[in-house]
Amino acid sequence: MSERLVHGTGSLFGRGRMVAHVVCVESSDGLVLVDSGIGLADIREPQRRLGRGFLAAAAPVLDPACTAIRQLEALGYAASDVRHIVVTHLDLDHAGGLGDFPAATVHVLRAEHEAAMNRVTRNERERYRPEQWAHRPQFRLHDSAKGERFLGFELVRAIVEPEVLLLPAHGHTRGHAVVAIATAAGHLVHAGDAYFSRHELETPPSCPPALALFQRAMSVDDPQRRHNQQRLRDLKRDGGDRVRVFSAHDATEFAALRG
Ligand SMILES: [Zn+2]
Repeated sequence: MSERLVHGTGSLFGRGRMVAHVVCVESSDGLVLVDSGIGLADIREPQRRLGRGFLAAAAPVLDPACTAIRQLEALGYAASDVRHIVVTHLDLDHAGGLGDFPAATVHVLRAEHEAAMNRVTRNERERYRPEQWAHRPQFRLHDSAKGERFLGFELVRAIVEPEVLLLPAHGHTRGHAVVAIATAAGHLVHAGDAYFSRHELETPPSCPPALALFQRAMSVDDPQRRHNQQRLRDLKRDGGDRVRVFSAHDATEFAALRG
């Protein structure tokens, strides 16, 4: 794999306190995005695509220059260079950019795809926005392959062998996953929304109360969500310099990785 990784943000939330961290990997099979952030269509039609609840709660900075597509174009790439998008989950702040890369195959856990398509609960009707996949992306659904383990998680499968791996970590949503990216220096682990604040991976963990409350309210399986955080804490401790774990929304982790 090329060493090059591009860390873009789909959007800034809450006046810079949070980001939507999109990673671009130059892999042996073209560009691979991990998550897609907020997309151009979301910025054009925020009320319809993102919903009033999210807009009021997150106060996102809706600037086209912050989208993954515009940042990749600024680096000289075209949308068609993105062959694969691996999503940690399909919440609106992770799936909004899918339509900016219509030719990409979208990799997701089957349980997450089912949850997003069926939107059974009120919470799911709010968090999943069908407008974001109205362009009918080519989804590739992945099942859990129990038994195989990798970095303390059950290995689902390599999206691009052996560089990009999808690891199930349900709890925040029914089919939430963590994505591991192999580099010469070790693994980058995009933890999606498995945690929100870098302090949650410290020992002992801590989290601003409002953020802790929000995560509990948004989770579909809170004990499992907390178990995932413990696995990530162990991974960070045991991995040393060879593993860098970061969440989708922590602005400090984002700044440190972007360098
Ligand atoms: Zn999120």
